[in-house]
Amino acid sequence: MKVDFYRHSLGAADAEGVARVLDTPFLTSGMVGKAVETQLSAFFEVPHALLMNSWTNGALATLLALGVGPGDEVIVPAMTFIATANVVELLGAKPVFIDVDAATLLITPAAVEMAITPRTKAVIAVHLYGQMCDMRALADLLADRPEIALLEDCAHCFEGRRDDYGPGQYSDAALFSFYATKNVTCGEGGAFATRRAELYEAVMRARLHGMSASAVDRYQTGGYRHWDMEVLGVKANLPDLLAVLLPRQIPTVRDRLSVRSAMAQEYATALAALNVRMPHTEIGVVHAQHLFPIHVHPRLRDEVIAGLNQRGVAVAINYRSVPTLTYYHRKYGYAPADFPVSYEWGEGTVTLPFFPDLSAEARAYVLASVADVIAAGATRH
Ligand SMILES: *Cc1c(COP(=O)(O)O)cnc(C)c1O
Repeated sequence: MKVDFYRHSLGAADAEGVARVLDTPFLTSGMVGKAVETQLSAFFEVPHALLMNSWTNGALATLLALGVGPGDEVIVPAMTFIATANVVELLGAKPVFIDVDAATLLITPAAVEMAITPRTKAVIAVHLYGQMCDMRALADLLADRPEIALLEDCAHCFEGRRDDYGPGQYSDAALFSFYATKNVTCGEGGAFATRRAELYEAVMRARLHGMSASAVDRYQTGGYRHWDMEVLGVKANLPDLLAVLLPRQIPTVRDRLSVRSAMAQEYATALAALNVRMPHTEIGVVHAQHLFPIHVHPRLRDEVIAGLNQRGVAVAINYRSVPTLTYYHRKYGYAPADFPVSYEWGEGTVTLPFFPDLSAEARAYVLASVADVIAAGATRH
């Protein structure tokens, strides 16, 4: 049997939406995207939201608007996707990696506190795999340090919650990804949400070259208006052609989460009998169940990947510890022992196929295949 790692659930109604946009004269960022921004701000109960053409470009616009640049430091987890650190590096600032908690694989206030220096400009908390970091505790830690911005990497956590809050409630900004495999997707895309009006204004400018008016605003008033550029920006706006794929996914995301949660429960129960580790979910967390990683002994990991691939099961690795990848290792001299939890997790983790349309038959096959390859590995070692 062949099992894909991921398949989206978009279909005919979405194709109709794209066709409707093609029928209008305006292909880039216009009224469709503005309506989605209103929808996002209502969903997250934050006053301001902006669509972006990726998490990465949205994060660049946000860090630019916050004035992050050479000489500054931004604290990021060692266990994350490279984009979290790369945006800092691209702006000439230094990503200061911290190790994650061994049970949850999330950053903790204690680890953040140890990494703060007079150069710290921001902290990016990553809600890894869909479990929110303790944002209330992180906000408390930074309460008397207003010069340090608290950002959330919500690429894995659109619909997740912790205690009685969701993304955007305790941070300066929450950043989302609508990349092809994310729980809410339009192929490529992202969003920014904030409670801070002045940051919203600054990020809106930074999203479009630093220009004082967007294309739709420039043309909507009828006649031509001059625009100015006072600050530097990136090109991070999402075209309506892609934005039109989002409105139907937002009100239904919690329905798909109940499917994801049931599947995660099924996987966890079956895998509990095997010699694998899974991340711990804290009490009070509504997990967004974006990815389903397991951890095997690092000595077995590559055999498990090969064995699953041989049986037709596609897998991914999320992630190898970022500071020990060649670029960061060469530039800053980071070593595995500097981030032992992230390194050990990264050398043993394997992410299994996991998405709402995965059939019961395919799930049973994935679980049986994992059991087979682990049994085979155990007899060899
Ligand atoms: C996918 C992802 C990103 C990058 O998102 P893009 O929209 O592809 O730029 C950032 N952080 C994490 C944790 C991700 O998984």
